Amino acid sequence: MVMDLDILLRHQHADDFDLKAAIAEMGICYREWPLAGRESGRIWRDGSDYTIFVNSRLAAGRRRFSAAHELAHYMFHRDLLPDHHTPHVSQIFEESGALHPAAVLPAFRERSAKTMAVQIMLPAEPIRRHHADGQSTEQLAVLYKTTPAAMAIRLRTLSLQAN
Ligand SMILES: [Zn+2]
Repeated sequence: MVMDLDILLRHQHADDFDLKAAIAEMGICYREWPLAGRESGRIWRDGSDYTIFVNSRLAAGRRRFSAAHELAHYMFHRDLLPDHHTPHVSQIFEESGALHPAAVLPAFRERSAKTMAVQIMLPAEPIRRHHADGQSTEQLAVLYKTTPAAMAIRLRTLSLQAN
């Protein structure tokens, strides 16, 4: 049986890492939609069916980070998500206490989902390999569909030189 992590790792190591294809292969429905206010994304659980919504008003790099964040909720603590069409709402770019209580996961779950999202979206091993091959920070940013600034931060966390 192919597991979620097998699917993610295969896509992360592909020449063109297609995060949405990985999400689809895990059997999760993915949609981009103009969400309200500060929402970055949401994840719905309906029994064993899951849907990820990402705010279509966000720029492409932020949509990808938001998708990775919701995928982290799915991969690492989906059993904690409320069932029956009460979505978990995330706002990873701006904090606000205005979310309705059913949407809230404990703060440490949100933090762990953010950390995992970075590792999902900007995987260490393939980035190390491309960096060793001489790819610049800008080229790596294009390859992983993020901003050069975000890639530079990731390189620093991997103790690699941005160039
Ligand atoms: Zn969240």
